[in-house]
Amino acid sequence: MTHDSGLALPPTTSASQLVAYVMCPRTYEYSYVLGLEPEFRSLALVVGSAMHATIGWWHAERLAGRVPALVAVERVLEADLLAETLGAKVRWKDQTPESLEADAKRLLRVYLTRFGDMPVATVEEAFTVELASDETGEVFRPLRGYLDLRRQDDVVVELKTAAKGWDEFDLVRHLQVGAYLHAEHMCGVERPTLEVVVMVKLKREPRIETYSVSRTCAENRWWRGAATAIESAILARQFPPKPSPLCRECEYERACRNWAADAAPREAPVGLPAPERQPPRPAETAPAPAP
Ligand code: SF4
Repeated sequence: MTHDSGLALPPTTSASQLVAYVMCPRTYEYSYVLGLEPEFRSLALVVGSAMHATIGWWHAERLAGRVPALVAVERVLEADLLAETLGAKVRWKDQTPESLEADAKRLLRVYLTRFGDMPVATVEEAFTVELASDETGEVFRPLRGYLDLRRQDDVVVELKTAAKGWDEFDLVRHLQVGAYLHAEHMCGVERPTLEVVVMVKLKREPRIETYSVSRTCAENRWWRGAATAIESAILARQFPPKPSPLCRECEYERACRNWAADAAPREAPVGLPAPERQPPRPAETAPAPAP
């Protein structure tokens, strides 16, 4: 379905845009084309953003030669959580601001115990690289993004928070993983390695899982095919809804529900004319009952 709002698309694409589009093209349109404010903020987003900001701050401090005390890092986390929730319509579910903060601090402590002294070279390294089709050579919007961390041995580290654990298969077609490997290929790294650090937010005992992915440019071909196919659909302004059980958690559910109601039909819908009744064909005529 083509839905042309006439508004411009963002000039660059990103891993987040590709993921948003495959989750539901209509939410992509609401967010990236129409610029609608989300109807609420999910706890997953709140925790993920705050943890990223705090961990980035920690490693930047270490890079600057400082080693903040745990209490100082926790204060930064408190501030980041506040910044994420202040004035936002957070869908709290069974959480409160206090219980969320306690869970996030537990997760942060687990991370710092294991990775606090990671030898980091850069934090939030920006990239913008070309994205082109292997088949036709067509060039699409440039891919833009940030690498969470780069270690001194050149391994790129992607931080994730998740409600449940991952497994190796989750990485095979992961659009973000492929995007960061593509960025590294385009910057001349022949076989980059990406380490995915998944912070699993279990309430009592949070844990950390790590996965390592390494691909050559040729081995990342599936990702390029997927990314350029998605970009083609976006550029063609194909934004159909994708109804699924995930609609329950959709940040644009009300807008989507009102979508059809916004546009009044130009005239009352007319049904198809009733078919003329035809006399039954001889072969179909029921035999006369026996006398
Ligand atoms: S409610 Fe469902 S179909 Fe509608 S925009 Fe959200 S995810 Fe897509």
